Amino acid sequence: MKQRPAMGSCYLRSQEGSRRPDARYTHQHQREGTLLKPSKIPDWLKPRIVPLWNRSYHATVAAQVYLDALVRGRVEHCSVCGRVAPILLRRDVIPPRLVEMWGLPPDLVDLVAQRESCECARCGAKLRARQLARALLQTFPSGFSGDQHRGSIRDWVAQEDIRTLRIAEINRIDGLHTMLFEHPRLVYSEFLEGVEPGHARNGTRCENLMNLTYNDASFDLVLTSETLEHLPDLSVGLSEIHRVLVPGGYHLFTVPLRPDVHSTYPRARLGEDGVMIPLVQPVIRHPGGDIGYPVFTEFGADLPDLLRAAGFEVTLFEANPNMKTFGQVFVTRKRELPEESPPGPIPGTPPTEGVA
Ligand SMILES: [Zn+2]
Repeated sequence: MKQRPAMGSCYLRSQEGSRRPDARYTHQHQREGTLLKPSKIPDWLKPRIVPLWNRSYHATVAAQVYLDALVRGRVEHCSVCGRVAPILLRRDVIPPRLVEMWGLPPDLVDLVAQRESCECARCGAKLRARQLARALLQTFPSGFSGDQHRGSIRDWVAQEDIRTLRIAEINRIDGLHTMLFEHPRLVYSEFLEGVEPGHARNGTRCENLMNLTYNDASFDLVLTSETLEHLPDLSVGLSEIHRVLVPGGYHLFTVPLRPDVHSTYPRARLGEDGVMIPLVQPVIRHPGGDIGYPVFTEFGADLPDLLRAAGFEVTLFEANPNMKTFGQVFVTRKRELPEESPPGPIPGTPPTEGVA
């Protein structure tokens, strides 16, 4: 999931230049009587007081989260920046609307919140990024950085043998991108509306994972995180990744995979006119539930089988066994031997109900 706004937070929208009172409060603050009624604030004062209010609110929350990490002993080595830091858990990071639309039970909400927060206080890498980093260090060990408990991506990208790798980061991986960007052979791309794939806007290359412009066997390593679920056709995307990898090359990725979904199924597909056709209701978008990128594929426990059928060897990296399936990083490797038959389309039909 991409970076999301902190929904449910008690912040005021300043609406500078607007005379329309616009404020957002939580019920908690209403109960506690800390309500700052916008109607009671003179219009001329709002542009000054609202930013102050918001800053103090966010500072208070940040201090609470930081103290909570220290009190509970959540201090650990970060596999991205290599420093020992408090791990900041924000339980409200998952928008309630997404929880409602996706039908997540409370225990899964907690797991997703851990995965999408638990940020390193030093570099900001969330747990998902740090797990991907650990999987990367284990898959491509180099010197002491091969020890996933001591190494870091900061050190990893400086190793001579690692700097020869050809790496594609397809869509920015928040928390990991800044360190990866130090790698001299990293090719980073985003899907940019209105930009021809292979071209750039403001220095950022556009690529469509359904039709990459890279040559065959261009990369030793492809990295994606929370991207595959947004592809209109999963089999085409996997086939493209398979094509651009060298034999023996790796694709490391994460996807949201609910442990209570047994079989992967499409939630939607694209019509010939390019318009999304929902196959399962509701249409879910990330990060907000009904705001963001539409989810085309709901992943299930059979995903490793689908990856093998697409021509990959599959290893699951589970940095934290308590995280169940939400903690997984998929480490897949393009088979070295020529395929006896090319990877075919991935079977899958939507179930009659939303969740298998
Ligand atoms: Zn860090």
